[in-house]
Amino acid sequence: MTSSYIPEKTKARIRTAFQNRCAYCLSSQRYVYGPFEIEHIIPLFLGGSNNEDNLCLACRLCNSYKGVQTTGVDPVSKQTISLFNPRAQVWQDHFCWSKEGTSVPGKTAIGRATVEAIQLNNELAVQVRPSWVAVGWHPPEELG
Ligand SMILES: [Zn+2]
Repeated sequence: MTSSYIPEKTKARIRTAFQNRCAYCLSSQRYVYGPFEIEHIIPLFLGGSNNEDNLCLACRLCNSYKGVQTTGVDPVSKQTISLFNPRAQVWQDHFCWSKEGTSVPGKTAIGRATVEAIQLNNELAVQVRPSWVAVGWHPPEELG
């Protein structure tokens, strides 16, 4: 069985690579009490590894909603497709912010399936984001 042990140096590199933001909802660790977690994009028990290209940073909500999912259903086409891969794909290609900056509509089938699977517009997120928008914390600038 593969160990889920990830060295602290690797965790630090992942936090830096994702600019201390959740790879899925783009929340900043700066505004969230719960420490962001290192997430296996492909879970270990499904053959994923501890290599950095399989690891991303995720807030607790996104990580818990994602769980072991690797696929989701696009609500438009009803097809089951792979979820957004934050290491292989660009967030802005698959998601955008609503005009008010408080919800995430998927732009593509991958985006839509991921929004549903990870519940990017869950009740808590949609309640908190307007406050972040009001003080200029959200939506985030384009990630470099
Ligand atoms: Zn998140």
